[in-house]
Amino acid sequence: MPGYDVLIVGGGVVGSSLAYFLSANEDSRNLQIAVVEPDPTYARSSTALSVGGIRQQFSTPENIALSLFSAEFFRKAPRLLAVGPDEPDLGFEERGYLFLASSEGLQILEQNLERQKRSGADIHLLRPEDLADRFPWMNVSDLSAGSFGASGEGWLDPHSLLQAFRKKAQSQRVEYLTDRVMGFLMSGGHVKETSLAEAGSVPVGKVVNAAGPYAAEVAGLAGVSDFPVRPRKRFVYRIQTPAKLPGCPLLIDPSGVYLRPEGDGFLCGVSPPEALDPDTLDLDMEYGLFHDTVWPTLAHRVPALDSLRLGPSWAGHYAFNTLDQNAILGPHPEVENLLFANGFSGHGLQQSPGIGRGISELILYGDYQTLDLTRFAFHRFAEGALVLEENVV
Ligand SMILES: Cc1cc2nc3c(=O)[nH]c(=O)nc-3n(C[C@H](O)[C@H](O)[C@H](O)COP(=O)(O)OP(=O)(O)OC[C@H]3O[C@@H](n4cnc5c(N)ncnc54)[C@H](O)[C@@H]3O)c2cc1C
Repeated sequence: MPGYDVLIVGGGVVGSSLAYFLSANEDSRNLQIAVVEPDPTYARSSTALSVGGIRQQFSTPENIALSLFSAEFFRKAPRLLAVGPDEPDLGFEERGYLFLASSEGLQILEQNLERQKRSGADIHLLRPEDLADRFPWMNVSDLSAGSFGASGEGWLDPHSLLQAFRKKAQSQRVEYLTDRVMGFLMSGGHVKETSLAEAGSVPVGKVVNAAGPYAAEVAGLAGVSDFPVRPRKRFVYRIQTPAKLPGCPLLIDPSGVYLRPEGDGFLCGVSPPEALDPDTLDLDMEYGLFHDTVWPTLAHRVPALDSLRLGPSWAGHYAFNTLDQNAILGPHPEVENLLFANGFSGHGLQQSPGIGRGISELILYGDYQTLDLTRFAFHRFAEGALVLEENVV
């Protein structure tokens, strides 16, 4: 088995974005790059089970900047990710996010909006009368305001994005190995070889952990036992209704319940409270959260949704960063040639272009060249410098 200069563990949207950005860079022309992915159908990966939302409405400057870059990238993606004459259709719908606030959440919403505008995001404050004008199907009686992204926000098709990155990376001579990383041979704090289930031992230069919800398991193979990423289950409910909600954006109720159009129906869901959010790798479906929380909340916010039918729904895993729900990027202090691209919780799909670009810069130049993502380094946990994001959905 020949060795690889860069071996990416996991070929979901993050691993495949990295494979694309790295192989697109002229300075990688002499590098052998491989992505190890056991399941080319991606049936259980976070990416395939995602809701595909993209928003600039974060409170952390780096998160805002990452999504601004993504919006620009998604607009150009059909051209950038074309392989020959085949331009991928990502289904990018720039129909906005709308965060709603009651009187309790108003101050935070206004603070965040100022930060987002300062960072160049196209976000606008809508008062209850503006909301009622623009979205006459919405109950605004208990709302103080909403913040609406007029451009650069919306959703896309996660599987199409992943496949577009993957095919383009392959066309740029990245090898995808249908295999699983089982272990690492360590020498003096370095990963020297990677052990694959099928192919056996492979010498490696740098390894990137892009294993999504399995990130802690992969980190553990290199002796990193304190990696704070856990698989946490999220349910996506599909609803069918004759109700028409013209101009419906991706709506986030003050309770955290979300709703967005999908085909001739809608997708909706909510993150459960921490006490009801165990680590789990199963994908069994449950409907209690829908009946007890999601539907009553939606029926209050959008009275036309008091009657609806549940369609085929699904569960997927967040790669949940238990310490601050944000990305963990770059090398571990004690295993320098193992880089992390993990812990995205609920916002990794939209961040994948900026993460792929950033990690490719770390690999090629040892430092970020475009957007400085240093705050997301692993050592922030030891230093108590958590990146606390107020808008985690
Ligand atoms: C229900 C739901 C809704 C979401 N909604 C949004 C949203 O609206 N917007 C947004 O931005 N994000 C959203 N997310 C989060 C987003 O989907 C993830 O952050 C993103 O897809 C993570 O991509 P990834 O490549 O890191 O992980 P994955 O897609 O899970 O890929 C990791 C891959 O690693 C592979 N792997 C695991 N172990 C090994 C091993 N030992 N060897 C080799 N390969 C291995 C797996 O097979 C898998 O394919 C949502 C997630 C869920 C579950």
